[in-house]
Amino acid sequence: MTDEFYNISENIKRIRENITKAALKSGRAADSVNLVAVTKTVDVARINHALSCGIKYIGENKVQEFLQKRDELNLGGVSAHLIGHLQTNKVSKIVGKVDMIESVDSVRLAEAISKKSIELGIKTNVLLQVNIGREESKSGILPEQLFEIADEISQFNGIMVRGLMAIPPANVDNLEKYKFFSNMAQLFIDIERKKMDNSNMGVLSMGMSGDYEIAVECGATLVRVGTGIFGRRNYNV
Ligand SMILES: *Cc1c(COP(=O)(O)O)cnc(C)c1O
Repeated sequence: MTDEFYNISENIKRIRENITKAALKSGRAADSVNLVAVTKTVDVARINHALSCGIKYIGENKVQEFLQKRDELNLGGVSAHLIGHLQTNKVSKIVGKVDMIESVDSVRLAEAISKKSIELGIKTNVLLQVNIGREESKSGILPEQLFEIADEISQFNGIMVRGLMAIPPANVDNLEKYKFFSNMAQLFIDIERKKMDNSNMGVLSMGMSGDYEIAVECGATLVRVGTGIFGRRNYNV
């Protein structure tokens, strides 16, 4: 095995151990948290190596990039998630090709996903992305608008709302991170209680390479880790 592949295996092992520790620390079962390997900019050989290490979820940011790699990936038993911002005009290309779209941030986008799904005779799993830090640079639904928008989105029969996703502000200390993740966990509990139509909650996707342990302590059920597994990316996506 080349060093590069060896590192990927070791990184996955270490991250799994850290997830287990963080889960146990907060009184949760280790298997209540799933690891999404974020594969943007990563080539097919390295992704397939990660899959051979038991990775069951991958996350890609861009429709085009994912579709280019998809046929060569060993995706049997693996869930592919779209985690990047999705433009309405790309919806018809990606619906049916991924198992979940984590980045639904508007009624219009949800409607387009639903329409295409109905055309294909499927229901698409989605997460509602919340802009928990209220950052202008980020997409996502503002926390105070979440319930109203979720109500509208839950009217669409071609989608199944499975939970929430968030990317908190990057350059804040751990205490602030705890606050953002805890706020998300509370929103998640509140929205789950509403028992909306076309929903089957249970997924709280938050935490990346720099903060996934904190996210798990706060209740994340999916963490999305790229750099921590594959090393630094050559460019930013
Ligand atoms: C890139 C990306 C990640 C992973 O970031 P790392 O810091 O490399 O772990 C997670 N979620 C989203 C939405 C991303 O775009």
